[in-house]
Amino acid sequence: MKKLNKLPQELINQIAAGEVIERPSSIVKELIDNSIDAGASIIKIKIEQGGLKTLEISDNGIGISPENLPTVFEAHTTSKISTLEDLNNIITMGFRGEALSTIVAVSQVSITSKTSENDTAYSLEFDGITPKDVKRAARDIGTTITVRNIFHNIPARQKFLKTAETEYRKIIEIATPFLLYYPNIQFIILKDGKEVINTPTTSQKPGLDLQRIQKVLKADHISRMFPIEYNGAGISITGYSAHPKDNYDKVNDQYIFVNNRSIWDFGIAKSVRSAYSRFIPNTQKVPFVISIKINSNLVDVNVHPRKEEVRFENPYRVYSAIEEAVSTALQKLVKTENSVTNYTSAIPSHAPSFLNDITPSKNYKQSPMFNSTSPSESREIRFDKAPKEFNIQQSLNFSKEILEIKQDDQPVNHTRDQIDVNKVFQIFNKYIVIEHEDTLIMMDQHAAAERINFEKLEGSIENKRMDKQALLMPLEIEINESEASYIKESEDFFESLGFTIELESAILKITAVPSIFSGQDIEKLFREIFQLSDDQRDVKKSFENAKQNILATLACHGSIRKGQPLTPYEGLHLYLDLMRCSNPYSCPHGRPAIWKQKLTDIDTNFYRTY
Ligand code: ADP
Ligand code: MG
Repeated sequence: MKKLNKLPQELINQIAAGEVIERPSSIVKELIDNSIDAGASIIKIKIEQGGLKTLEISDNGIGISPENLPTVFEAHTTSKISTLEDLNNIITMGFRGEALSTIVAVSQVSITSKTSENDTAYSLEFDGITPKDVKRAARDIGTTITVRNIFHNIPARQKFLKTAETEYRKIIEIATPFLLYYPNIQFIILKDGKEVINTPTTSQKPGLDLQRIQKVLKADHISRMFPIEYNGAGISITGYSAHPKDNYDKVNDQYIFVNNRSIWDFGIAKSVRSAYSRFIPNTQKVPFVISIKINSNLVDVNVHPRKEEVRFENPYRVYSAIEEAVSTALQKLVKTENSVTNYTSAIPSHAPSFLNDITPSKNYKQSPMFNSTSPSESREIRFDKAPKEFNIQQSLNFSKEILEIKQDDQPVNHTRDQIDVNKVFQIFNKYIVIEHEDTLIMMDQHAAAERINFEKLEGSIENKRMDKQALLMPLEIEINESEASYIKESEDFFESLGFTIELESAILKITAVPSIFSGQDIEKLFREIFQLSDDQRDVKKSFENAKQNILATLACHGSIRKGQPLTPYEGLHLYLDLMRCSNPYSCPHGRPAIWKQKLTDIDTNFYRTY
């Protein structure tokens, strides 16, 4: 092991102060960092009660010599930097020399370690922050650090800790980037004695490896990712990005690494997104895993206390490189797929012919998914899934009602409570405008559809009329550890909604769904629920609140989207359905659904008095 150095005061001041340890997951992050720095190829993480009780990280790295055991727990002790210049050049993960000293200050720590130079291992315990005697112990080369009772001496911080299950998920969240980026390391995670993650090594060196990424992130869309590569003027980019059809309203699976370190940078995420702008609706996002290597003097890693952000000397240089890299790869992908796929219409040929009459089929027909051959035509390619699947289902329902209208007196006459379908319009493909008597009604089609679905769902739960429909083939969704933990916690809730689910290690098996979801993409629906934050969906904490949030997500899932063309009939029915809701004025997320303007107000605006 290298000689330990006390950091000069100048350097100490350079290093951004701040809270290093916020919760059990922050400890896990620091300790994984250290194990990686120590050259470990196996890292084992034991978590008891979400780390609130015990965390134990062991590795097979170089170990710590007995004489250094007490020293490494002193503030600002590190073997990794000794001068200011080192700060930027250092490629290793940790460098403040304050992780161990902070951890020992907020919890009960013990350590056992063996180096190759010593015949035996040595261990050390603490009395507060004072080290006791170093004792002989037994273990192979490497280090085990055990951390118990986090914040036992700081009750004020304990208040901010969540339930064991939530803290556990936060640990998994923080460990995930390490699991992704180090396919050369076997990670073993045990939760309350049970092995939940074990990643065999799939590569000899750190970096992005699709096999490992798939093993860690599990979701189906990972297997459809395409590779990204870029090399130019001091920046090299590698990674994987999602197939455009795998676009979502919200997405968790977005990972950025800069010089081997997991960071978040909104600008980078936006640049990836821009590359997709011609392929997916502009509200949608895609999963990606990207690694950027950049000359270390062009990036400042010292702007965030937990190193979760960086500052680029020239961010736009980085952003344009990202956009170019993704865009080039995307073009290539689309070309390849075009040459093998030949969809001619978004409406499948087996769709009932009446769809052509009642759907706004002009636009649908003209938005082929994959049928272009020339580059200029490929500008029109869009991977907007909503209209395709949903339109047919929805249209069938609409059609029934519309046919009823058509049968009696169509077009509808001006009576007090009926609206003339000729005075119903769609504008900008997202609002329905209706002139009715002395009122101009404007409705946000997506907000309205969400509200309608939401109340339908809520109603059926209240009446316990969750008609279940057994699936012919059980649906099996591969889920990751954090998702499994959530499902386990919320199983009863989903049962009460009408789902029949089973959890078999990394597989969520769905055998029945509420009838209102039959024909829907159930996997996508669950994926969207997984994207909700813990606070939004924690059924244990606030059942009512979580129920509302989850229902809102479900409702949103099956709803007419903005950007979806609707016929006047469809628009009218949406309005009539909305008016039957108990709260027609906002969508379940609280955005307004409808806006009315009286003719007199319009007149006033034009100074018109007659
Ligand atoms: P830093 O990682 O910034 O140097 P830490 O407080 O995290 O500071 O660790 C202090 C020192 O303890 C490290 O520089 C390293 O020499 C030693 N160390 C910590 N964890 C391990 C480990 N798992 N294996 C070997 N050495 C370790
Ligand atoms: Mg460290």
